[in-house]
Amino acid sequence: MKAITEVYPLLATPAKIAVTTHQKPDPDAMGSSLALCHLLRQLGHTVTVVSPTNWADFLKWMPGAGEVIDFEANREKATMALKEAEWVFCLDYNHFDRTKNLAPLLRELNATKVLVDHHQQPDTAAFQYGISDTGKSSTCEMIYDFIVEGGWSDKITLDMASCLYSGVIGDTGSFRFKATKASVHRMVAHLKDLGLNHTEIHEALYDNFLENRLRFIGHVLSNRMEVFYEYNAALISITKGDLLRFNIKTGDTEGLVNYPLSIQGIKFAGLVIDRDEERKWSFRSKGDFDVNTFARLHFEGGGHFNAAGGRSSDALDVTAQKFRNVLKEFEHQLT
Ligand code: 5GP
Ligand code: MN
Repeated sequence: MKAITEVYPLLATPAKIAVTTHQKPDPDAMGSSLALCHLLRQLGHTVTVVSPTNWADFLKWMPGAGEVIDFEANREKATMALKEAEWVFCLDYNHFDRTKNLAPLLRELNATKVLVDHHQQPDTAAFQYGISDTGKSSTCEMIYDFIVEGGWSDKITLDMASCLYSGVIGDTGSFRFKATKASVHRMVAHLKDLGLNHTEIHEALYDNFLENRLRFIGHVLSNRMEVFYEYNAALISITKGDLLRFNIKTGDTEGLVNYPLSIQGIKFAGLVIDRDEERKWSFRSKGDFDVNTFARLHFEGGGHFNAAGGRSSDALDVTAQKFRNVLKEFEHQLT
């Protein structure tokens, strides 16, 4: 993979470009893709954003989100855009597996692929150009750097600033996590100078619940959370029945995995949801417990040091029991 800086001069020639991100895009995935799309259009390119799947309603306000093609809902249109593209940007994922059903198509494309991502263990051989930096708070911060280093600071519009800010607050837990370095605050200061309305964005992302979602959280915390004080850990397992009873949609379970970490002493939390096609895991930790390794070793996943995900083909009770068993192995790191 060649350095991202080599891409800047090549973007002087207008081209057809596709921007892609991981399945079930979060604020960072959607924000970085849309901000890059807006920049590239200003540079004279023809740009399409393709998401492997649908996304949460709380992202729909983002400028440009209405034009994003959902591959699962519109395969023909998405496939055509990707096959026509001379460049494919790959944002907020570093392995095609993270794009679910889109992966086989991405692998076979002849386009020049560019990676911009901050997850661990990138598959750098799959991309011709790019940057992978696990020290970065978010892909949105990396797209901001891309814009500034490319000499396009004057092209940051208020719409782009809103997209970039969303990803930063999403991935830093509103400036809480370790990766929130001074550079993040400098970037936000710049975005504020451009007129960013941070209150409005925070409300759009987080104060948007329907009543059923709040009641669902109450149910889950009361009835589906187990706390293992001997391991400073907790587990939440959510059944298909729970999802049906509370009419839970994409995005409604976002943030649930963080609740156990607000209990005194708890530094590791696992959340598993019984989805139709698989059991989907989320892991979060505080301090020096590495959930990326935990997810890779036992739940076919990965991610960051303190935030990772995974999956299982086992039944819900089987995979939950595996989590309880595996905790013992990590006792010395957790206590
Ligand atoms: P979340 O729990 O919010 O779905 O994901 C937490 C972090 O782990 C995100 O940065 C996400 O990209 C990553 N992640 C989630 N699921 C998987 C997975 O199945 N495999 C890998 N490698 N990373 C994942
Ligand atoms: Mn991210």
